[in-house]
Amino acid sequence: MPLIIVTGLPTSGKTTRAKQLHEYLEKRAAGSRYRLHYISDDTLSISRSVYDLSPDKVPAHTRSANASEKDARASIYGAVKRVLSDKDIVILDGLNYIKGWRYQLHCEAKAVRTPSCILQIGCHKDRAREVNGERLRREAEEAGQQGTAPSEEQPEAYEPDNWENLVFRYEEPNPMTRWDSPLFALVWEDSQDQARRVFDSLWDAIAGEGRKVVRPNQ
Ligand code: ADP
Ligand code: MG
Repeated sequence: MPLIIVTGLPTSGKTTRAKQLHEYLEKRAAGSRYRLHYISDDTLSISRSVYDLSPDKVPAHTRSANASEKDARASIYGAVKRVLSDKDIVILDGLNYIKGWRYQLHCEAKAVRTPSCILQIGCHKDRAREVNGERLRREAEEAGQQGTAPSEEQPEAYEPDNWENLVFRYEEPNPMTRWDSPLFALVWEDSQDQARRVFDSLWDAIAGEGRKVVRPNQ
């Protein structure tokens, strides 16, 4: 299978759903021919600041590895390419907000003759902004508590301008294009049952009986 490209606004619940999908696929793919992979900015240690359009605000320590968005994309691309095959299911959890980038990923999947699909996470902008606000407050608190190690488990927040800019730059997937289809969608309010139904149809489309044969020259 299959490359599953998760997309959505910053702090809209993408990782939460990507992890639910991972759990679902672990069970579903058990005993099948598929191996499962999960790739995200966090697994590749890519800082949220790479998306910042005002690099003067980016702290120096984050400049070393994957310093720019372009470098970050190259490292994500490399990570996907290393594992993607007809026998590997790759969940790519991230913003994936650029149309041309999703096109590139779709072509990469096609080149190894495996399907790709989009899982779009919908969330009201104000709700997503609140989530980022909470993360910013937590980071500020932690910075104030001298001597305590930063919590490794918690995802990094986006600087407010970076967050607003990403929302502004977000290029909605268009299921009429071949690189943004098939498109599956989940919104914040969707129940576990609804998520399961969506995951079932996603599985059918890219690994089950409904799976199309992918030819590189199509
Ligand atoms: P993203 O990966 O888009 O930045 P996360 O999945 O990390 O977003 O979600 C941000 C926060 O919102 C997390 O604290 C998570 O617990 C909460 N959250 C995400 N999705 C939902 C949801 N569908 N219902 C309730 N809370 C959610
Ligand atoms: Mg995330």
